[in-house]
Amino acid sequence: MLIDRYGRAIRHLRISVTSRCNLRCLYCHREGEFSVGMEMDIDEISKICRAFYELGVENVKITGGEPLLRKDIVEIVQEMPPFREISMVTNGTLLSKLAHDLKEVGLDRVNVSLDTLNEEKYKFITGRKLLKNVLEGIYSAYDASLFPIKLNMVVLKGINDDEIYDLLEFSSKFNENGIKIILQLIEVVGNSEYHFDLSEIESKFERMADRVIVRKLHKRRQFILGKKAVEIVRPFHGEFCMHCTRIRVTSDGKIKPCLMKNDGLIDLRGLSYEDMVKSIKRAVALREPFFKNP
Ligand code: SAM
Repeated sequence: MLIDRYGRAIRHLRISVTSRCNLRCLYCHREGEFSVGMEMDIDEISKICRAFYELGVENVKITGGEPLLRKDIVEIVQEMPPFREISMVTNGTLLSKLAHDLKEVGLDRVNVSLDTLNEEKYKFITGRKLLKNVLEGIYSAYDASLFPIKLNMVVLKGINDDEIYDLLEFSSKFNENGIKIILQLIEVVGNSEYHFDLSEIESKFERMADRVIVRKLHKRRQFILGKKAVEIVRPFHGEFCMHCTRIRVTSDGKIKPCLMKNDGLIDLRGLSYEDMVKSIKRAVALREPFFKNP
């Protein structure tokens, strides 16, 4: 098991498989990837994942850019070691044709980014008129049982902050036979113009909830309200960092210990398996919480 100097065990790997994207979301943090080299090939991705798996990492999340732009995305999932959970975060625009194939080769679940149910707003936020494709992607993911599906909604002041309950209502329609879709409300990082503080909403859900589930990762809280499930992601406090069990790998094969920091990148490319394991251990030893005070 990989444990850093702050006693945080590394259980989650978030690996980017491309920095390319077919949307231009106005708030996008690009997973902290700003100057990227050539994207890894399938063997490099698989070797890195195996190293993390053998070092005790339990879950992997595949991200991008837009991971479904990779022509070999089904093979990438197929080549993953047997993590407890293999998930993916996607904008959903290309998901409808791929959901079943991905499930078949071992993808457990998806997060689909969906900030609005309004086509005009979708175009304003993402630069493309593709809301219909995203909704088809969500239906296919449901059909393929990629559960629980999380709908990632980045809440933007003055743009979609009035749609939280609409999206909650939309997600609950899939939950007649148990919670299959969870709405994940995300506080925007690094964009002050649209920043919307979710603390009030969080308190409100806390009062209304039938049940509150506290997740190990970041101590995120999930609220269950009948057929509705909502999770809040607010990365602006020490508790979030002190319970961070995640490490990132960029699409060009570098370990990035924290989304918020650009230093401490460690290149895993071209290394023998043994040297890769040593570099991963070194990167974990260098991990620092970004926010230290709760
Ligand atoms: N293209 C994929 C997608 O759209 O889901 C994967 C990459 S995207 C960078 C991963 C997640 O990060 C998305 O759910 C997106 O909404 C979220 N995200 C991007 N920029 C953000 C920001 N500035 N603050 C908070 N979340 C952000």
